[in-house]
Amino acid sequence: MVRVRFAPSPTGFLHVGGARTALFNFLFARKEKGKFILRIEDTDLERSEREYEEKLMESLKWLGLLWDEGPDVGGDHGPYRQSERVEIYREHAERLVKEGKAYYVYAYPEEIEEMREKLLSEGKAPHYSQEMFEKFDTPERRREYEEKGLRPAVFFKMPRKGYVLNDVVKGEVVFKTGAIGDFVIMRSNGLPTYNFACVVDDMLMEITHVIRGDDHLSNTLRQLALYESFEKAPPVFAHVSTILGPDGKKLSKRHGATSVEAFRDMGYLPEALVNYLALLGWSHPEGKELLTLEELISSFSLDRLSPNPAIFDPQKLKWMNGYYLRNMPIEKLAELAKPFFEKAGIKIIDEEYFKKVLEITKERVEVLSEFPEESRFFFEDPAPVEIPEEMKEVFSQLKEELQNVRWTMEEITPVFKKVLKQHGVKPKEFYMTLRRVLTGREEGPELVNIIPLLGKEIFLRRIERSLG
Ligand code: GLU
Repeated sequence: MVRVRFAPSPTGFLHVGGARTALFNFLFARKEKGKFILRIEDTDLERSEREYEEKLMESLKWLGLLWDEGPDVGGDHGPYRQSERVEIYREHAERLVKEGKAYYVYAYPEEIEEMREKLLSEGKAPHYSQEMFEKFDTPERRREYEEKGLRPAVFFKMPRKGYVLNDVVKGEVVFKTGAIGDFVIMRSNGLPTYNFACVVDDMLMEITHVIRGDDHLSNTLRQLALYESFEKAPPVFAHVSTILGPDGKKLSKRHGATSVEAFRDMGYLPEALVNYLALLGWSHPEGKELLTLEELISSFSLDRLSPNPAIFDPQKLKWMNGYYLRNMPIEKLAELAKPFFEKAGIKIIDEEYFKKVLEITKERVEVLSEFPEESRFFFEDPAPVEIPEEMKEVFSQLKEELQNVRWTMEEITPVFKKVLKQHGVKPKEFYMTLRRVLTGREEGPELVNIIPLLGKEIFLRRIERSLG
């Protein structure tokens, strides 16, 4: 059975790159009727925070990427938080030491760093090997470690041979002999390094496919060697391309919002974000672009992941969001839009009126946060706009003649026409002035939609104010 995992470090908000990785794993698991696992990689105690873990989970849930096993829902392969698995890593490291595949190191980090610098200054590659550390393993040093409550670091004996990775996305990746030296798998503070914890967990959690960003490609060499040392076949690897900003540089805060949470707060919809992210490095077999989560699941396959970098285009995401926003049931739109009105200081009293306003303005809106400004004039009088001298009489007369008219466009339009003709006023100029008087703006939804919804009372009041 397919088992995949998303393994974020809880050191910040869920970035769109992480969300895309989670999404690909999720889609693959659902398509293959496998399991999607959430693992929290929190062994960097200084940078990891429980609050971020919660935020990550909240963002994943908001996107609809629910996991089958994880720290909150449990599962047969737990615990799912690395900080709760330290004993497991220790046992596995000890096993490698016993088998002669790893060794204890009693050198302090500064001493290791010094050795590295010396190698570099001699023009050599900074590769460690067991002999280099032997001089530190003295009875005094061992005692010192014990007194300080430290554990010896554990280094993995990197086999001096080449490795070949058959990556689903990148194709054959060759790691030449001697690319790296021995590396640390357990630190003296008793915690594992990323590569080690990752391999132990992927092994024990029976992960069949590792789908992750290609920034991890160089780690894969270490991971392949570790699988080999445990005499386990590695999972299938699929390294997806980095997401770049429109300028071709790695997507970062400089490009604007990058966290899922920020997009949510701006009024993006999960359906749109999921759809858009799926197309960053993956494409539908028939080139379809607007796809629901169900359609994404049924059409997803790893062989359509692209090795080329994906460009994050905020305009396209926005356009897609507009599409989803216009096509959702009005009840749902009202529910989602309401908080944005409240935040903008607009209180919704009449639900039916609110829904009609949304129906009229939604064509002009792409993200929920744009609604309040696009439709504020439906709820509040805009600043009064003065009617030009030559048009004052037209508006005065209209005000009188419309008093007793039934408030539908069928009844109103003929009155407009009659009065305009009488005064020889150009319709274009009249309607522009009327728009400014009613809405305080130069553009907006069609007046034939605005006028009936505003109602007679507000209509007449706004004209009266503008007549001064
Ligand atoms: N914690 C790692 C990260 O957030 C996981 C990498 C992996 O998927 O192996 O980048």
